[in-house]
Amino acid sequence: EFAKSKTMKEQREYLPVFSVREELMTVIRDNKIVVIVGETGSGKTTQLTQYLLEDGYAKDGMIGCTQPRRVAAVSVAKRVSEELGCELGKQVGYSIRFEDCTSKEETKIKYMTDGVLLRESLLDAELNQYSAIVMDEAHERSLNTDVLFGILRKVAQKRRDIKIIITSATMNAERFSEFFGRVPTFTIPGRTFPVQQYFAKTIQDDYVDGAVKQALTIHLQNGPGDILIFMTGQEDIEATCFLIADRITKLENVPPILVLPIYSQLPSDIQAKIFEPSEHRKCIVATNIAETSLTLDGVKFVIDTGLCKLKVYNPKIGMDALQITPISQANANQRAGRAGRTGPGVCYRIYTDTVFRNELLENNIPEIQRTNLANVVLLLKSLNVDNLLEFDFMDPPPQDNILNSMYQLWILGALDNTGNLTEMGRKMVEFPLDPPLSKMLIMSEKFGCSQEMLTIVSMLSVPSIFFRPKGREQESDAAREKFYVPESDHLTYLHVYDQWKMHNYDQEWATKHFIHGKALKKVREVRSQLLDIMKTLKMDLNSSSGTDWDVVRKAICSGYFHNAAKIKGIGEYVNLRTGIPCVLHPASAIYGLGFTPDYVVYHELVMTSKEYMQCVTSVDPHWLAELGPMFFSVKQAYGNSMMKRD
Ligand code: ADP
Ligand code: MG
Repeated sequence: EFAKSKTMKEQREYLPVFSVREELMTVIRDNKIVVIVGETGSGKTTQLTQYLLEDGYAKDGMIGCTQPRRVAAVSVAKRVSEELGCELGKQVGYSIRFEDCTSKEETKIKYMTDGVLLRESLLDAELNQYSAIVMDEAHERSLNTDVLFGILRKVAQKRRDIKIIITSATMNAERFSEFFGRVPTFTIPGRTFPVQQYFAKTIQDDYVDGAVKQALTIHLQNGPGDILIFMTGQEDIEATCFLIADRITKLENVPPILVLPIYSQLPSDIQAKIFEPSEHRKCIVATNIAETSLTLDGVKFVIDTGLCKLKVYNPKIGMDALQITPISQANANQRAGRAGRTGPGVCYRIYTDTVFRNELLENNIPEIQRTNLANVVLLLKSLNVDNLLEFDFMDPPPQDNILNSMYQLWILGALDNTGNLTEMGRKMVEFPLDPPLSKMLIMSEKFGCSQEMLTIVSMLSVPSIFFRPKGREQESDAAREKFYVPESDHLTYLHVYDQWKMHNYDQEWATKHFIHGKALKKVREVRSQLLDIMKTLKMDLNSSSGTDWDVVRKAICSGYFHNAAKIKGIGEYVNLRTGIPCVLHPASAIYGLGFTPDYVVYHELVMTSKEYMQCVTSVDPHWLAELGPMFFSVKQAYGNSMMKRD
């Protein structure tokens, strides 16, 4: 309602941050570094950059604003370009991995992921393009934000003419101020309404079902007000949306409801729907993206499953895996708060208060302390940080994590025995990819299949190629199976892309085969960017011309030999590194085609009830030893008999 009836200017002036604009800008003028704290929705992300622009801070450089999430960077840039009444990509732009929507001459405000700024610091350690940098959503403590803290602290020491602003929801602000040398903290007065909170009386076995029931109850028993459900990830979100819509249609005389998913892999035009006004009640089903990154107005009811999906470094298996994990109490309070932005609200938790008090951590663990640091290590090494254990981390990662990541880089050949970057490592840094993927690309040159590997790596960088609409599962599965290359999911991806190319990159062809045309388009863009990097590195662009798939599988193996498994029973494998049983993901081309190879390598593990290997390729065990000699000999030295060659 508000958005429809008020002008942009009136909307901007209604935000809490506007009421303190003058004091705030005075503090910024008088200090190089400032920490700003404010409730979600107070206007930090959309207004600060504009205030800096209005006050002339973009005269000798850009105003950069980092976001931990891609979706937020894009959505906020769009919003701000609308507020300023200009075209996106001109005065206001964004830059996320593989997608730069800025203009060299015109862009004054640039939203970007923290990863992008981090990579820029490789090219220009003092970040001279920027006259001001807003590190937004610092409370999220994303891996890249944490590394940027250390880098920005150095930048601040070297540059007299820079403004650094760290913004945070109400958590952690003192830590930030402390870290940067007791810099001033400015608090934007809040405007929040009370939120009534309810817990489940008993533990629910099925949080999807629990959330669906709760949403229906709210819808049937309450007047206007949107519902926001916090779910784990894409699969659960889609199931939830389907179930709500399905059950509503089966009831009679129920007012319509607009069910909208939001997660980071969702195409951006569908994402934008959550901001569009609607005459019916909206029910938004989101990941923790809606906790602070995106501000949704009009939410009166929050349903909290108490869970989120996180990349967690699992020391038992020595690598990252996506895991459904309980949120922290701080997250739970943030989630509840989403119901009280525009009026009093209600939060229903699908878990008991005993669980809340006894099982949820008070605060979440910074990502730097729970994920693989291989990319960070590579990056810092190329910034000439020799001793990583002495880098300026706000919360240093456990030493074991650093050493483990260095070990991973060493077996991949990126670090030498003294811990310095090798030529391979230096090449790897050039690619905005995880080290195993860069390694595959670099090795493909030697194996004579770089064109093929470019496609495969690009396909892996864009998730959810296939779609599987509810009610048409069999049809879509059959369509997908037609592309299967029995020995490899990677080759299956290659096959899909080549077929699409043969059909002149036709979107309709893709849709007909239950493939996301938009995703393929994205793959094509990613591919051309990776191709450019290979050209810059003067790498050979060669092709096995579809006659020899073994070389492609070998190149795949060169990046993944530490993700190998050996067959144990029908469809069952055992991880060669950890000895832990694992199984093929049901969506794998290898699964159920009557061909179960003795040895496979996999792209990642997804842990639910079992450890599922996702994206798998069969390999010859001799390749494992040939391509990962360091890895195998070390394991043998430690007496891991499973690593012996057959
Ligand atoms: P904060 O960063 O303090 O959480 P934001 O600057 O993100 O606050 O949001 C301020 C307000 O801007 C929100 O309350 C919302 O009304 C509006 N807004 C932000 N993004 C969008 C968008 N994409 N579409 C419409 N309105 C938006
Ligand atoms: Mg914000």
